[in-house]
Amino acid sequence: MDGRTSDTNCTNCGSLLSGRFCPECGQKRFTPDQLSLARFLSDLLREFSSLDGRIFRTIGPLLLKPGTLTLAYLSGEQRKYIRPVSLFLLFNLFFFLAGYRMGLLNWSITYANGSEGLRMLEQRAAERGIDPAVFVSNMETIFKEYQRSMFFGVIPAFAVVLYSLLFFRRRYFVEHLIYSIHYHAAYLLLLPVVLFGALKVLGVIDAVTGWRSVNLIGRDPGIVVFVVVLMAAYHVIALRKVYHFGWIAASALSILVSLLSAFLMVPVAREALFWIVWYTS
Ligand SMILES: [Zn+2]
Repeated sequence: MDGRTSDTNCTNCGSLLSGRFCPECGQKRFTPDQLSLARFLSDLLREFSSLDGRIFRTIGPLLLKPGTLTLAYLSGEQRKYIRPVSLFLLFNLFFFLAGYRMGLLNWSITYANGSEGLRMLEQRAAERGIDPAVFVSNMETIFKEYQRSMFFGVIPAFAVVLYSLLFFRRRYFVEHLIYSIHYHAAYLLLLPVVLFGALKVLGVIDAVTGWRSVNLIGRDPGIVVFVVVLMAAYHVIALRKVYHFGWIAASALSILVSLLSAFLMVPVAREALFWIVWYTS
């Protein structure tokens, strides 16, 4: 043997081995045949198919059984599903490829700080001696770049809201954080899909009847009502499951929580992004 393997000790950390996996660092017992191409490919395939399985096992409950994943995570049932943060990263990517291009949360820096923003940008362009149109367009690019990370701020902010509202429940902050991550992951996936579906259905209805029902949810303020109702419906079920609320308490709380969530996600996040770009660029 070439000294890389040992029957009794982990090749990664040196701990004594008792089974297929190291009890200290978790690495699988190493044998040189793992380096053969056939083994490498079959391991790769197994890893992908288990990831696939985990994705499908996770998406169903996330969309159709709100709160189920959160409850599972909080009671220690964790390996079965995709980890909350990975789930969020996946759907954040999906949202900015799909929903954002449909116009959802697609903001411009020129109105992110009300009517003041554009004037401030033009003034700064003048101070720096840059063509205002070029300067605003550059700032717009940075703004849109930063916006892809906005949920890294929105998610903990929403967890703070839950922590404050449910303080009497004496839960750990991280429990609310997991709720917040799962909820936003569901939101990022559900919103574009449901909205797209609803608009298609209304489009067909309009084509048949000659109505203009698409306008009901296709623009402000209808779309805001649609989104808040969708969020509230999700929260009612999730809050009941995770925090064991009754129907009446969960319904009242879900409306409050959905409005606060919409508030954080749009005006607060938008203005915060403006100031971040303003002070860093
Ligand atoms: Zn080890």
